[in-house]
Amino acid sequence: PEGLRVRDLHVRYPAGRGAVTTAVAGVDLDVRTGEVLALLGPSGSGKSSLLRAVAGLEPVAGGTVRWAGRDLAGVPVHRRGFGLMFQDGQLFPHRTVAGNVAYGLTMARLPRAHRERRVAELLDLVGLTGYGPRPVSTLSGGQAQRVTLARALAPQPALLLLDEPLSALDRGLREHLTGELYDILRATGTTALYVTHDHDEAFTVADRVAVMDAGRLLQVDAPDRLWWRP
Ligand code: ADP
Ligand code: ADP
Repeated sequence: PEGLRVRDLHVRYPAGRGAVTTAVAGVDLDVRTGEVLALLGPSGSGKSSLLRAVAGLEPVAGGTVRWAGRDLAGVPVHRRGFGLMFQDGQLFPHRTVAGNVAYGLTMARLPRAHRERRVAELLDLVGLTGYGPRPVSTLSGGQAQRVTLARALAPQPALLLLDEPLSALDRGLREHLTGELYDILRATGTTALYVTHDHDEAFTVADRVAVMDAGRLLQVDAPDRLWWRP
């Protein structure tokens, strides 16, 4: 068994006075190895909750999450081997670009020379050749998200989880970076779950699109076969 396998997943939140909000209401979803799957749906439909439960950031109220056949129940975030990228990249503000990208590699205790070579490769990949020594405070929003992507890809995660990675950027830049993201994910053969509310973004980056509404999946299919339209 390969890839990600989510079965009958439920995520709930306390909503006060003993009430609960069901954010994810029994979802089955597979992400195949090497594929980019976009999770598309309106705000509040449960996309983030699903992604966060897969990451191990949100408790699971029911169901199972498996990677490569292994049940992840009780496996903490940092032991899952997944990469994370959020809307606000949350770069370490007092580190340089290289220092941020190297973070995941430092944790992996790579030898220094190997690490520096890998950081340079990653900066080339995201179009920031030579930016290594810069403080991250000097970067534009788009550049910062490129660094966030490089940092997430650095340890070569088994699965990359992206939650609205471009939605803080203005429209033109978002369109441009969506195309770049497509190229980067393909070039690196990255398996990815990509959460977005943006129809065009989903259709550009994804091999398959899962359409979510009110905690459930309405359809999962290749972009050219989707009948559902937001
Ligand atoms: P999406 O990512 O599609 O915008 P979310 O997963 O963020 O959807 O939210 C799904 C539902 O869960 C919404 O009704 C939202 O208000 C609720 N929700 C999300 N996070 C929390 C939380 N930490 N506490 C309580 N309710 C939450
Ligand atoms: P905690 O002591 O924080 O409740 P657990 O050992 O229950 O920790 O879970 C560790 C991590 O695994 C948590 O981040 C939790 O969200 C996640 N998790 C718990 N149950 C499941 C499950 N059935 N499937 C996937 N992830 C789960």
